Formats: sequence, C-alpha cells, structure tokens
Amino acid sequence: MILGVLLIMEYYDLAIIGLGPAGAALARQLAGKMRVIALDKKRQSGEEGFSKPCGGLLAPDAQRAFIRAGISIPTHVMADPQIFSVRTVDCQSGISRNYQRHYLNINRHAFDLWMKTLIPEHVTVYHDALCKKIRHQDDRWHLAFESNAQQHEVSAQFIVGADGADSLVRRTIYPDHKIRQYIAIQHWSRDINPTPFYSCIFDNRLTDSYAWSISKDGYFIFGGAFAQKDSTRRFTALQEQMAGLGFQFGETVKSEKCKVLFPSRWQDFVCGKNNAFLIGEAAGFISASSLEGISYALDSAEYLAEILAKPGANPNKDYWLATRSLRIKLYGKILKSRLLTSPLCRYAIMKSGISHIASVKAG
Ligand SMILES: Cc1cc2nc3c(=O)[nH]c(=O)nc-3n(C[C@H](O)[C@H](O)[C@H](O)COP(=O)(O)OP(=O)(O)OC[C@H]3O[C@@H](n4cnc5c(N)ncnc54)[C@H](O)[C@@H]3O)c2cc1C
Repeated sequence: MILGVLLIMEYYDLAIIGLGPAGAALARQLAGKMRVIALDKKRQSGEEGFSKPCGGLLAPDAQRAFIRAGISIPTHVMADPQIFSVRTVDCQSGISRNYQRHYLNINRHAFDLWMKTLIPEHVTVYHDALCKKIRHQDDRWHLAFESNAQQHEVSAQFIVGADGADSLVRRTIYPDHKIRQYIAIQHWSRDINPTPFYSCIFDNRLTDSYAWSISKDGYFIFGGAFAQKDSTRRFTALQEQMAGLGFQFGETVKSEKCKVLFPSRWQDFVCGKNNAFLIGEAAGFISASSLEGISYALDSAEYLAEILAKPGANPNKDYWLATRSLRIKLYGKILKSRLLTSPLCRYAIMKSGISHIASVKAG
C-alpha cells in the first residue's frame, strides 16, 4: 500500500500517546482546559485491531478513582459472574487457600472503548493511529504518526506517554533505562469447570512472578507472567500441572501474549523530563505483587491532570513530587512480591491460615 503524506504542521498544547485507562482519563480531565491531541492505536469500534491482553479485574483503588470522578460503570462493561474470592494455590507446598477480594469482573476491551467515549469533543482524537517517532526541538515536542494510511506531523508544548509497557515515549526520553519485563501469556477457552472461580498460582520452578485464572462471560482465562526465555514452554508446563490439580481446560479459542513490566527497584519508576511525562504502565506504575495496574493508571492521570491544568514553572518536578505516595505504595508491592514469591515466606503465610475462608460443602 502506498501511504499518502500529509505534512501540515499543527500546534497543540498537549499531545497524549495512548488511550488506555491512563491516557483516556487524562484526556477527559484536561478537555477544554488546553488544546489537546490524543493518538491511540486501538480502533474505536468492533473487535478487530489492537486490544490489551488483561485479566479485566477492577481493584478497589480503581473503583475509588471512579467515585472521585463521579462516574458509574455501565452494565455493558461488566462481565459475568462477579466472584468474591481468589483460590490461591502454592504448587510447591500443595497448600490452597481462599482469600476474599473485592474486584469487579469487567470486559477489558469494552472498558477501554467506553473510557474513550468519555473524552469530550474538544479533544482531537485519532483512533487506529500509530505514533512512530517523537523528538524534542526548539522547546517543543514533534510527533510523527500514521492514521488512515496517511503520515501526519504535529507539535505540542507537552507530551504524555500513556502508551503502556513498551512505551515509545519512555524509550525515547530514557534510552538507557532498563526495567524488568516479563512475557504475559493468556489462553481463553470455553469454561467447562463446574463452578466459575478466580485463582492465583505460585510455582517458582516455572516463574518467579505468578499465574492466574479468571472465569469471564462463559470463558476460562488462564494466564501467567514468565521470564522471556522459554515463556511458552513454562506456560504449557504450568497449564498441564493445573490440569492435574483439577482445572478443566476446553479448546483454546484465543491466545494472547504481550510484555508486562515487573518493577523490582525504586529507580524503575520514571515520570518524564523536558515537558514529557509518563503515566500508567509507561511510567512503570504497575503492582509487582499482583500485576494490577488500572488503578495506578487512573491515579497517575489524575495527578498529572491537576498539574497540567495550571502548569507552574517546573511541571515535571511537580509531577515527580505528586506521585511520591504512589511510588512508595508501588515500592511496597515490590517488597510484598518478594515475600510472596519466596517459597518459605509464602508457605509460612499460607500455612498460618490467616484470612483464609474455608468452604463449607453441603451434605
Ligand atoms: C496479562 C495481563 C493481565 C492484567 N490483568 C490486570 C487486571 O486484571 N487488573 C488490573 O488492574 N491490571 C491488570 N493488568 C495491568 C494493566 O493491564 C495495565 O497496568 C494497564 O492497562 C495500564 O494502563 P495504561 O493506560 O497505562 O496502558 P495500556 O492499557 O497498555 O494502554 C496503552 C495504550 O496505548 C496505545 N499505544 C501504545 N503504543 C502506541 C503508539 N505508538 N501509538 C499510538 N497508541 C499507542 C495502545 O492502544 C494502548 O491501548 C494486566 C496486565 C497484563 C499484561
């Protein structure tokens, strides 16, 4: 295909790359306050095109962000059923426990598309648009992107990388920054288990992160995060092991694979510089203990929206300071993940039975 070239330079106050939960929340909050352009590689309708591989569990902190924004989640975004406990399985010790959790089970793709519909019309949004390059010149950010088979170039005073784990913005402004990345693999099959359930699975022989299963809308999602080397073999070995422990897998109808960040140090969190900002997973804001990231995406967007609505002399410094409590919380998750992925500590915690809710079988 021959790509058309449309090189009319347009000027904006702010360019947002990526409209996952982080970018869509930021665009919504800054609409009408500054001239905003937002690019997203997802299509706005239909099932085709890019969709984010995700468990689609909305944690209480994410629910709180919606309470603060006064937004209710529509039913078409919700999945069936809602489950209140997680069966935690330690394959090495053979211990299994049930812990109460307050997640909302959602359809992640429907959630992302719905969040984009909340962006007011004042924002110039390009769906199905791929940002290919950014550069800083003459105190402005210049972006080259492709949309509708045409090349565009725009410039903006501020740029925000809300472009997820493999962020182009992060790679451009911090070319030497390395953050631990794992491969997340998820397989969807028809759910043939007798009752729907969530699970969380630990087995250090196959991963020093963790694996999970989620029943959703008649499907059984089985996934895990694995070191990049041998990730598929490790996934298959874990799936076979769980089949031996009673998990039932129907025929796989969808397979997903993507990079997921697995922060392990304080320096892994990066917020941006030179009027470029990182929010959500692009900044490394994801829990190392649960890989939950939607709440941090929403929270970081909220902090940045407040700063950019009335930018002071050094908005990068203001954003760095504003996200301090969030980074401390995420550092706490790194420490928690070290405990949970240490076979001895995990054994002690699970063996103690603390917070375990035993099931009472009828009859
Ligand atoms: C397998 C898996 C399961 C997970 N399960 C959960 C869960 O159950 N609950 C939870 O809270 N978190 C979960 N997470 C984490 C969560 O998905 C992320 O932390 C969250 O999506 C981060 O939101 P974000 O907006 O920062 O980035 P993303 O959701 O990754 O959004 C980035 C967006 O940027 C766009 N984009 C990227 N590059 C470009 C480009 N160059 N040009 C234009 N657009 C671009 C894409 O369209 C994408 O939608 C999971 C992650 C994985 C990998």
